[in-house]
Amino acid sequence: MSRLSSYDPYNQEVIGDVAITEAADIAPMVARARLAQAPWAALSLAARQQQLTLAYQQLVPLQDQLARLISREMGKDLRRANYEAGGTLQSAAYFTEEIAAALAPESLGRNGELQYRPLGVVAVISPWNYPLAMANNLLVPALMAGNSVILKPSEQTPLVAEAFVNGLNQVLPPGLLQIAHGDETTGQALVEADINMIAFTGSIEAGKHIMANAASGLKRLVMELGGNDPMIVMADANLDAAARFAVASSFENAGQMCTSTERIYVDARIAAEFESKVLAYARQYQVGPWDQARVNIGPLANPAQHQQVLRQLQDARAKGARFLLGSDDYPLPFIQPTVISGLSREMLLEQDETFGPVVAIAHFERIEQAIQRANDSRYGLGAVVFGGAAANQVAQQLEAGMIGINQGVGGAGDAPWVGAKQSGFGFHGSAAGHRQFAQVRVISG
Ligand code: NAD
Repeated sequence: MSRLSSYDPYNQEVIGDVAITEAADIAPMVARARLAQAPWAALSLAARQQQLTLAYQQLVPLQDQLARLISREMGKDLRRANYEAGGTLQSAAYFTEEIAAALAPESLGRNGELQYRPLGVVAVISPWNYPLAMANNLLVPALMAGNSVILKPSEQTPLVAEAFVNGLNQVLPPGLLQIAHGDETTGQALVEADINMIAFTGSIEAGKHIMANAASGLKRLVMELGGNDPMIVMADANLDAAARFAVASSFENAGQMCTSTERIYVDARIAAEFESKVLAYARQYQVGPWDQARVNIGPLANPAQHQQVLRQLQDARAKGARFLLGSDDYPLPFIQPTVISGLSREMLLEQDETFGPVVAIAHFERIEQAIQRANDSRYGLGAVVFGGAAANQVAQQLEAGMIGINQGVGGAGDAPWVGAKQSGFGFHGSAAGHRQFAQVRVISG
């Protein structure tokens, strides 16, 4: 049986390994998932909620282990990893209650009822950047809706997913939640298997493959894809708050976040002041290995990501960007805090998602130019505007699923986490999001 190794991105040491799920293993897994799904679907919403809550309680003693695995497998500093693990563990408490309310049958008057029925077997395919949270966000509504789940975690972070699923399975019935390990070969075999829904978080490119492979079975899809979020800074913005947000959002998780700020359009009249504040905040960041105190930017998750960010920075320099902080030449495994000005449309930094701690700034003369440029993208996940009273009018013109005014984007919890354009369709969070994991059935008469 082939094995999948997990590497520490700081020093490339092997941390551990798991058995790869071969394509031939998938059909028996789906059969087990179907067997487990029928009695689970027959339970009331309250009974499912109770079992899931109990299952999440088993994870509480594992929080520290889960946080350390997140850090070791993808480099995130331990404080952030703890925050992710803690949030995931607590999620069942509020999440399941919200979902139970959203999936309760609705009366259609004297003549009928609208129901939210299970779909069957759901594949949850997740990325490495928030390896617990991203799996959890889709797995909980799928299970609460009465489905069984096969989780295909990222091949970069198999160990944390394995510990998570094993913890939950101390309580959940056998076969209800299974894990399939491997890269896109395993993912593709799962997508093509006899399942009913794919809930995917990851890149646009992988999303397109999944959609194509799901087409023959007309399988239900939820697609949470990449982002290239713009930020507009208007002349009357609180510049200190805007600069602090710009840096924090660009550097969060070493920049490896779907809704991190990627392109900043700042009014030319206040650009110099904004840039000097950005520099002051950016210099406060501490780069280093995940287990050292005060570190808030860890190594990039893998050498390919590191190479990709360098390529984008080198392209920006070649096309005239000014480096206000940092350079385009960093040895593995870190990308130091980098601030560039003179971002232009031709640069890869403007066109593509950047998964590194980079603040990229362009100046604008008229607000219409900033709006046009913010919208000139195939992505539409989040967008942010900092400004005075007119910021709201600007926000109304932005093409994104989630927009923050003088703050970051919201989403999840009781609001949807939702993308526009090629950042995806289908979503989670909110009653409408929870219902994406269920089949609507109307009974009348
Ligand atoms: P990725 O698309 O490379 O991989 C994601 C998952 O899909 C992995 O488990 C991978 O093995 C699997 N996969 C890849 N190709 C597949 C295929 N053809 N069929 C089936 N499965 C396949 O993404 P990544 O590098 O792990 O994660 C980073 C991306 O995820 C970024 O684009 C980021 O913006 C996005 N993301 C989006 C959100 C959101 O909420 N919208 C959240 C987090 C990350």
